[in-house]
Amino acid sequence: MKQKILVIEDNEQNMYMISYLLKSNNFDVVQSFNGADGIAMAIEVNPDAILLDIQLPGMDGYSVVRELRKNNLLNNIPIIAVTSYAMSGDSEKAYEAGADGYIEKPIDPDKFISQLKIYMVKNRRDKK
Ligand code: MN
Repeated sequence: MKQKILVIEDNEQNMYMISYLLKSNNFDVVQSFNGADGIAMAIEVNPDAILLDIQLPGMDGYSVVRELRKNNLLNNIPIIAVTSYAMSGDSEKAYEAGADGYIEKPIDPDKFISQLKIYMVKNRRDKK
């Protein structure tokens, strides 16, 4: 059975590229273009992992992670933050909010899937 990845990303081009890479690597993809829809979708489809843009309109990625981590049903799903801000402190903020991993934009198509797989295996359940 294919693993299902929820992608929460407001930028059409990034969404297209991430979805393309995932589908090419035999994942099923569910898309949300903002945080509130993403949370609703996570509850609905119970994905195997969530790829989460941090810069989202309205509710930002950090708030989305915190909301997801409050929900007992979703607490164990690996959440990987994806952000173009290569500023120091950004990854720490994502981890602090409850993310399991961090992938920097621009996305490297050659490394993206292997990065994702590492974070999917090494998720928060293993850390605690
Ligand atoms: Mn964005």
